[in-house]
Amino acid sequence: MTPQKIEHIGIAVANLEEAIKYWENVMGLKCYNIEEVADQKVKTAFFRIGEVKIELLEATSPDSTIAKFVENKGQGVHHIAFKVDDTNQALKEAEEKGVRLIDKQARKGAENLNIGFLHPKSTLGVLTEYCQE
Ligand code: ZN
Repeated sequence: MTPQKIEHIGIAVANLEEAIKYWENVMGLKCYNIEEVADQKVKTAFFRIGEVKIELLEATSPDSTIAKFVENKGQGVHHIAFKVDDTNQALKEAEEKGVRLIDKQARKGAENLNIGFLHPKSTLGVLTEYCQE
């Protein structure tokens, strides 16, 4: 399944409020949505830039994967999300090509998208998200 476009770029931040200020004041973008995704233990903030979104992610718990990412690697680009027609199908096809999956099945992400992640060990270090509207 060929992705249609980059849906968003996920960026891990230590402090969402401060990060929003940077993206608004320096980059001049407007935050249009702040949303907590409880099962992923993150709080997210979204910005639009052309057809692509920026998704800031702040951990809401020390055992969140975002907390571990920030602790180990520092703040920065966390994942790239590709828009597909069918996340489950895209995951299945990736697995058939030998890619290790983080999610075997699509789950609900921020903005009510059906999302699924490929493991960065199988994707040349780029944590890859498939998402379907
Ligand atoms: Zn994402």
